[in-house]
Amino acid sequence: MSAIAFIGLGQMGAPMASRLLAKGHSLTVYDINRAAMEKLAKEGAKKASQPAQAANEAEFVITMLPDGAIVREVLFGVHGVTETLKKSALVIDMSTIHPLESEKLHHDMTQAGFSYMDAPVGKTSDHAVTGTLTILAGGTDQQIARAEDVLLCMGSEMIRCGGTGNGIKVKIVNNFMSIALNALSAEAAVLCEAMALPLDKAIQVMSGTVAGKGHFTTSWPGKVLAGDLSAAFMIDLAHKDLNIALNVAGQLNVPVPLGAAAREVYSQARACGRGKQDWSALLTHVRTLCGLRQTDE
Ligand code: NAD
Repeated sequence: MSAIAFIGLGQMGAPMASRLLAKGHSLTVYDINRAAMEKLAKEGAKKASQPAQAANEAEFVITMLPDGAIVREVLFGVHGVTETLKKSALVIDMSTIHPLESEKLHHDMTQAGFSYMDAPVGKTSDHAVTGTLTILAGGTDQQIARAEDVLLCMGSEMIRCGGTGNGIKVKIVNNFMSIALNALSAEAAVLCEAMALPLDKAIQVMSGTVAGKGHFTTSWPGKVLAGDLSAAFMIDLAHKDLNIALNVAGQLNVPVPLGAAAREVYSQARACGRGKQDWSALLTHVRTLCGLRQTDE
């Protein structure tokens, strides 16, 4: 069992800290919110009056804070973690922060002789309560091996993301997609309502199709990811179908800005001569726009 300092006891941090206590670790907690610390103290945690005090005896320091500026303040600010941290300890930032801030924190911690890794989490506070988070571990093999038992007290799965900083990078890309998809899903659901189509029927259908499952595991693997752009479903046809939906939305006064933006991407791809290619070739199209070398050309 390890001596762990846990800093940031909010929606996520509090249940994560509880899990570590329940597994028998010795925990010292710190949060600017005293009530959050009191709750953990009742479960057996020691309370610290500053980050430096929390880190004093720690083998692991875990931060679960709102943003990168706060993580930096907690580590390097007045009475920060690095004032007392042992060089043998491992700092694990589990917050969702800007990847460049994470990279700078890693650099500055390493320069100061400390060990630092990123391990943000997938899923929500409900999963934090049940210890079923997905841990996205970014760090050296040695750091991840050392942290694994501690991290798996809070999650049911740990994915080794392949090097320092990759945990937070994949977390940001994951959130980019799921957060944007939430807005597109809202457009689709309101379109159902405007057409007097029961949403449960749409969900039943779309749970089994690319719409509900996403492209990464359905339309892409056998096509663009395998270097095959021959059409299973042509970009021209996808463009036609999207136009019909946008036309319906327009007639029913349903705003669909994301759908309209997507149509422009299909129009661009057609203008670039990709109309007869598979719809997964949008990946190739966007890579071309970014000046990335194509494997199909
Ligand atoms: P939260 O706002 O509920 O908790 C943040 C905690 O940090 C609060 O208790 C706050 O008092 C404390 N804090 C703020 N400044 C501090 C400081 N200087 N020193 C010590 N403590 C300080 O946020 P949350 O939902 O627990 O999220 C924490 C992190 O986890 C964020 O980076 C968030 O993006 C990420 N995350 C959240 C979820 C979610 O579903 N809520 C899921 C995955 C990842």
